[in-house]
Amino acid sequence: MKEHVDVIVVGGGVIGCSIAYQLAKNGVKVMVLERNKIGSEASSAAAGILGAQAEIDEEGPLLEFALQSRSQFSELVEELKEETGIDVELIQKGVLKPARSQQEAVLLREKVKQHQRWDRDVTWLTQQEAVEQEERLSPFLAGAMYIPNDGQLNPAKLTEALALAASYHGAIINEYCDVRSLIYVENQIKGVITANQVIHSDKVIVTTGSWAKQLMGGLLPKCNVYPVKGECISVTTRKKVIECTIFLDEGFYLVPKTGGRIVIGATKIPHSFNKDVSVHGVMHLLQKAKEIVPSIGEAVFERHWAGLRPQTADGLPYLGKHEEYERLYMAFGHYRNGILLSAATGIFMADLIQGRPVSPYFLEAFRANRHHIHT
Ligand SMILES: Cc1cc2nc3c(=O)[nH]c(=O)nc-3n(C[C@H](O)[C@H](O)[C@H](O)COP(=O)(O)OP(=O)(O)OC[C@H]3O[C@@H](n4cnc5c(N)ncnc54)[C@H](O)[C@@H]3O)c2cc1C
Repeated sequence: MKEHVDVIVVGGGVIGCSIAYQLAKNGVKVMVLERNKIGSEASSAAAGILGAQAEIDEEGPLLEFALQSRSQFSELVEELKEETGIDVELIQKGVLKPARSQQEAVLLREKVKQHQRWDRDVTWLTQQEAVEQEERLSPFLAGAMYIPNDGQLNPAKLTEALALAASYHGAIINEYCDVRSLIYVENQIKGVITANQVIHSDKVIVTTGSWAKQLMGGLLPKCNVYPVKGECISVTTRKKVIECTIFLDEGFYLVPKTGGRIVIGATKIPHSFNKDVSVHGVMHLLQKAKEIVPSIGEAVFERHWAGLRPQTADGLPYLGKHEEYERLYMAFGHYRNGILLSAATGIFMADLIQGRPVSPYFLEAFRANRHHIHT
């Protein structure tokens, strides 16, 4: 069977669905091809923190893109609710970064000053103020950095809502559709070959996260995307134990969800495509959680899971157009921040594909053909 659409999006994670939504909303005939179910990989494994300032300390394009994306969520969430009825459970109660020693407190206080340049609402809380805000925090902490504007949401629901809203605007969502290769004649992309179909399109966007290298193959030899496995657990509590997200710089966090759930994550295991959850990983997460919120031991264990974060050699995502193969676009490598960056990525890529002006600063920083140091 032969089909033709304007744009094929390969990969139905949060990135592919966000781009598909923005394109479909603008009247583009778009088709999403996902080899499993929509959002079944990293995008449903994520904790859903919109941690622009919790995650990124360095001034530069990633922080600016993240701040832009964070600011787009209130509107996006409303829009998705209206169009699909899905509540993506956006919670805007901020992120608390506790210091476990006086030394850490000194470093975090410095960070507070630095972050106030980008958001004046970031503050330092003394040990007493931190415990007043979160009474179940360990009394042995030495104060905390408070980032009130970093929110969090349910990433699986966000991905589902984006896909559904895209389909309401005419996008075709094909699940269980494995793309085996890209079709190109000389240097022009013409479509894709799936397990049982040839689909023609004017443009193709690859949004296959940790699997980007497999599909891009020789078309982007310097592209270095690799998986970093993250293990998570969740617990439930009858009474609310914490109000805001608690985050340590090493990438450990407790995220209070609706209905008394707390997501606790995450480990970091580079170059693993395996999604098993080890006893060691679970023990590590529980020990850390107990250190920060001692009463977590009273919670009920809910479940465990793992997902694969798409990391890149320089820590920046690939967003843009292929410089040699015409009509080929890429949006992958969002590592630990794909949920946070999904709003801005959808708009940026739709603008680029439809020929509207985009920031030259982001275009240059995230260009797909930039040079890499191989890891
Ligand atoms: C444990 C964990 C916690 C995280 N926490 C956060 C967080 O709190 N905040 C945050 O912002 N980010 C977080 N992240 C990162 C975030 O989940 C990712 O950056 C984001 O989901 C990447 O989205 P994606 O669409 O690029 O990738 P994915 O969600 O992995 O989607 C890629 C899709 O492509 C499909 N695919 C691959 N190859 C093919 C093919 N050949 N044909 C068809 N389909 C194909 C896959 O099946 C998959 O569904 C976390 C990640 C993990 C693992």
